[in-house]
Amino acid sequence: MAFLMARREKPEENLWVKCPGCGEVGFKKDLGRNLKVCPACSYHFRMSAKERIEQLIDPGTFQEMDVAILSRDPLRFKDSKSYRARLKESRKKTGHAEALVSGVGLLSGVRVSLAVFEFGFLGGSMGAVVGEKILKAMLRAKEERIPLVTVSASGGARMHEGAISLMQMARTISGRLLLSKEGVPFLSILTDPTTGGVAASFAFLGDVILAEPGALIGFAGPRVIEETVKQRLPEGFQRAEFLLAKGMIDGVVPRAELKKKVATFLYHLWPPAKEACMKKWAKRPKEGASVAGNGGT
Ligand SMILES: [Zn+2]
Repeated sequence: MAFLMARREKPEENLWVKCPGCGEVGFKKDLGRNLKVCPACSYHFRMSAKERIEQLIDPGTFQEMDVAILSRDPLRFKDSKSYRARLKESRKKTGHAEALVSGVGLLSGVRVSLAVFEFGFLGGSMGAVVGEKILKAMLRAKEERIPLVTVSASGGARMHEGAISLMQMARTISGRLLLSKEGVPFLSILTDPTTGGVAASFAFLGDVILAEPGALIGFAGPRVIEETVKQRLPEGFQRAEFLLAKGMIDGVVPRAELKKKVATFLYHLWPPAKEACMKKWAKRPKEGASVAGNGGT
């Protein structure tokens, strides 16, 4: 009975969601079952870091790391609120200590080092801690010799930390270069939005760069550019499909196909991934043997 009461008292807006793509109103629960993609128009809603990890990583295999690294307030920054208060609020709202969740886990049987942005935490901004966690995820990939997969959703550098946040661009790029030297693959997934210092640093340096349909990807926002150049920007400017047409990214992949596509790339880029796939298929029951040579994800 108490459960029914709780259901009835729940505010209506928490149950329904309106699609910004087509205006359809649907149940939030149904949207969640469909990987947060609108069934009517395929609009891709933003995902939390937790949802993204559940989508990409095999159940029960993710091990979060570097949880105890916490942001400091080097500039004692304050605008309408103090930076410390904003951090506290974001921690409460998202359940994460920072705007990036990192760790290791299996992606279709392949062990990967994963770093996923949490956009709900100060717009997924990259401050010293986010930069440090990305670098550590890179070093983990290098030391363990496992592929690095990042999922970006960020407004860019964290201005509350001033120049320190900008330094994270150089730090993450240097980490990426280490992976190149070791020949460890790096697959970068860009989601809505990937902008500012994140787009202008490691996120665009993947061996393979994939994006979700309709994702806003760029450095400065379209409005700022339009005001600066005093020109109307072309249709679809800074969207994933536009970037693909201009050769900036390698593919636009619908969310439902993303895990399979990433696994396929890992399989081709990284010999140990191929071995892991073979092992996974070898363990499968014999009745499916006729199709076992195909796919492998
Ligand atoms: Zn829609």
